[in-house]
Amino acid sequence: MTHFEPALRDRHGRRFSYLRLSITDVCNFRCNYCLPDGYQKTAGPEPLQLAEIEQVIGSFARLGTRKIRITGGEPSVRRDVTDVIRVAANTPGIEQVAITTNGYKLAALVDDWAAAGLQQVNLSIDSLDAQRFEDITGYKHLDRILAGLDRALELGLKVKVNAVLLKGFQQNELGEFLDWVKHKPVAVRFIELMQTGDQPVFFSENHVRAEAIRQQLIDSGWSEKARGLHDGPAQEFEHPQYAGRIGLIAPYSKDFCSSCNRLRISSMGKLHLCLFGDQGHDLRPLLQSQNDGSQLDQALLSLLGMKTETHYLHDGDTGATRHFAMLGG
Ligand code: SAM
Ligand code: SF4
Repeated sequence: MTHFEPALRDRHGRRFSYLRLSITDVCNFRCNYCLPDGYQKTAGPEPLQLAEIEQVIGSFARLGTRKIRITGGEPSVRRDVTDVIRVAANTPGIEQVAITTNGYKLAALVDDWAAAGLQQVNLSIDSLDAQRFEDITGYKHLDRILAGLDRALELGLKVKVNAVLLKGFQQNELGEFLDWVKHKPVAVRFIELMQTGDQPVFFSENHVRAEAIRQQLIDSGWSEKARGLHDGPAQEFEHPQYAGRIGLIAPYSKDFCSSCNRLRISSMGKLHLCLFGDQGHDLRPLLQSQNDGSQLDQALLSLLGMKTETHYLHDGDTGATRHFAMLGG
């Protein structure tokens, strides 16, 4: 990624070159920390259409966004997901296109995605044990998801795996993940569970701090990589005898928000300045008007002035986020 100063910057000196774009809030899994009862349809507008997505990406790219992550809900439930990837990859200024997926269609679609310009897949795998994977996600076919991962690696895509830290993780999952990355060239990122509006009890029963894992990694010879100027909030660890890397995402740690470099657009076309912010700022009226995009550019620049310095999760304030499927994490 070239080093330059994006026009999108906030009052706290942070610059934004990374957009997380949700293209649907529908999901076919029922992860116990996200949608334990599965996706529930509610009345409301349809998700952004491809032409609207193109306008959003174009505007962010003009303002210096260089990386787009396509997320959801589960982005692969949208039939035109490959077209969305292609539009993002073909937008002048966009240098990296990534997707976050639960992987259930990965093996079937990843060849098309790579041909459309995808460079990185973030795959959510909370356990490498088939039964525990099913207990967490409500979905059986871990094998199919791992086959998709191998195909993505064969195609030369960069692969990251997201695993949410739940109670018992250190005893049950950690060892298996560490053994696995010994020979798999993937970055596994352990994400501390974040409280969401729908799940206060689940959170209090399952939240474990990433700090305990950090200490265990350091004690077993992993070393923390220096963080680059434009890196996001993950702390990355490497080990000379391991092909893969480990990352820790610790949203409750001090200074987590100071390295924030991302903005979010919901599938309904709302700008979210923080994952745990307010209801979002509706951009759709600007997308529907026939103009050259300059109004949208101006709106984005001025809305960024409202971005707060930090989230208020420490106070149990989850903002308007009921669950991550609303916004894509
Ligand atoms: N469905 C896709 C998937 O699971 O990869 C994309 C959307 S999902 C909301 C994005 C990421 O958010 C996943 O890695 C998921 O594990 C994570 N996530 C969901 N709820 C979370 C929570 N309460 N705390 C931390 N991570 C969460
Ligand atoms: Fe679906 Fe992803 Fe939420 Fe799991 S974490 S329920 S796969 S949106």
